[in-house]
Amino acid sequence: MLSFPGLADALFGGACALCRGAARAPLCAACEADLPRAAAERCPRCALRSPAAALCGRCLAQPPAYDATIAALEYRFPADVLVRELKFAGRLALGAFAGELLARAVVAAGEPRPDCVVPVPLGRARLAARGFNQSTLIARAAARALAVPMRPTVCERARDTAVQSELPLEKRAANVRGAFVCPSLVGGLAIAVVDDVMTSGATLEAVARALKAAGAARVVNWVLARTPPPA
Ligand SMILES: [Zn+2]
Ligand SMILES: [Zn+2]
Repeated sequence: MLSFPGLADALFGGACALCRGAARAPLCAACEADLPRAAAERCPRCALRSPAAALCGRCLAQPPAYDATIAALEYRFPADVLVRELKFAGRLALGAFAGELLARAVVAAGEPRPDCVVPVPLGRARLAARGFNQSTLIARAAARALAVPMRPTVCERARDTAVQSELPLEKRAANVRGAFVCPSLVGGLAIAVVDDVMTSGATLEAVARALKAAGAARVVNWVLARTPPPA
């Protein structure tokens, strides 16, 4: 006799990426409902929590190169498991799920449609090791859901960098400064830059600087999950 997960696989094609229970979609309905949606009261520029959705002190003191940030989720359980599954367990269907979640957050934020969507590029070595760029998977699905063109080659890594998450927060800006180049013509364009997780914001800042240097008019970060402010 088939075990229940086996039967579910046969009928629905899979198990929930978070609880491993039967699911018709990458996540079961209960786990999808449990995802920590990003609260509305956030700094419009960097998406850190901020009372009355006012610009936060950090963005006031040192305005970032990007113009706005939209986050779908808070980076805490079980959103962290979702990101890990997407990144390291090769659950590619989660990329489409995550992109659609992000697209809904963009619509809910009332953000105007950009001219194109650009994923944060992975370094060559990391892309070769992983076989895919999780940001590209998310970006592709979000772009499709919002009927906006995706332009994955607009921004490139000029050099490989150390893995940001393995560095202390204060070392991250220096690690990625100047790490991106923008060989395409983007003059006057509004560009959405997609990443899975925004932590210090240093990577997205470096990408936004490269895009603005190439003439982009507006750069908005679309991130699946935003970490809480650094302690
Ligand atoms: Zn589940
Ligand atoms: Zn801010």
